[in-house]
Amino acid sequence: MVAGLSRVVRALGPIGLYAASRGLTRRHPRILMYHRFSSEPRRGFVSSGTLARQLTMIRRHFNPVTLSQLLDIWRSGGKAAPNTIVLTVDDGYRDFHDVAWPLLKRHDVPATLFVTTGFVDGELWLWPDQLAWLLESVQTLPEQVVAPPVQLQRQPGKVWNRSTVWQALVNALLRLPDGEKHSAIAALAAGLGTRLPAAPPSEYAAVSWDQLRQMQLAGLDVGGHTHSHPTLPRVADADLRLEIDHCRERLDAELGPRPRPFCYPNGQPADFSQAVRDRVEKAGFTGAVVAYADGQPHHDLYALRRHAAADSDFQYSKALSGLEWLGQRVRRMVAA
Ligand SMILES: [Zn+2]
Repeated sequence: MVAGLSRVVRALGPIGLYAASRGLTRRHPRILMYHRFSSEPRRGFVSSGTLARQLTMIRRHFNPVTLSQLLDIWRSGGKAAPNTIVLTVDDGYRDFHDVAWPLLKRHDVPATLFVTTGFVDGELWLWPDQLAWLLESVQTLPEQVVAPPVQLQRQPGKVWNRSTVWQALVNALLRLPDGEKHSAIAALAAGLGTRLPAAPPSEYAAVSWDQLRQMQLAGLDVGGHTHSHPTLPRVADADLRLEIDHCRERLDAELGPRPRPFCYPNGQPADFSQAVRDRVEKAGFTGAVVAYADGQPHHDLYALRRHAAADSDFQYSKALSGLEWLGQRVRRMVAA
């Protein structure tokens, strides 16, 4: 059924369906979510060729603004212009500066970048990247991968490669409190007979404060994404200050005080709570985004839904045109 619908969308999309849904959803600003960029096509990255095509589409049919601009309109009681689009990017990797930023400038499309301040400060690198690096560092993947309390064993008939093991480790470790996560990764490194470098290799490196200053001067909207990228509801009350307030303080100290939005790490429903949401608001962030869309209108400025951008033109066109949001709304109505 879904596959059938998807075939219809693929066939009709180019001849009017996207245009029709753009019209139907013109009053619902879409917030798009990106993570990583590469110059050549690469799994999990949006390549520069794809991004250039996506920005051309945005320029042709939409009204792109930064998230801070949109929040400013809403907070002053205004309405966003029809077909408003916000392009957001998470984490603060250097590839945003090297690959995406020159294209955003060329196409004159503004963007919001959410940075993990401890990552830019050089205090840490992101743990899913540490896992990827560790799995890459061994010549052959062992039949058993142990990151206590997580233990993965190769199963007959199941695909067992770096990418499937990485995904299984990420899913399992995501459920651990931060301290346990880091000791699990240290134990995994020891078990594989290797050591994590203190600073991330260039492939996993962060943007620098200097690069952020230059980009902000040229119009980039820089928001917060915590200090160390933890799962916020699992963070002790005392440490929420470091993750939320200190993140804000670092941004203001390095880039100057100004209104800034926030982005919850991982961004699924279990990754923020009422207490976390209130703390973000109290810290002075002007709004916050999650990492999923569910067909809801934007009724809470601290739980703004986002649509995943992708290297696939089909997924991208659905997200951009509003077709994905419309489909979710219809499903909500049917389920109600
Ligand atoms: Zn993130």
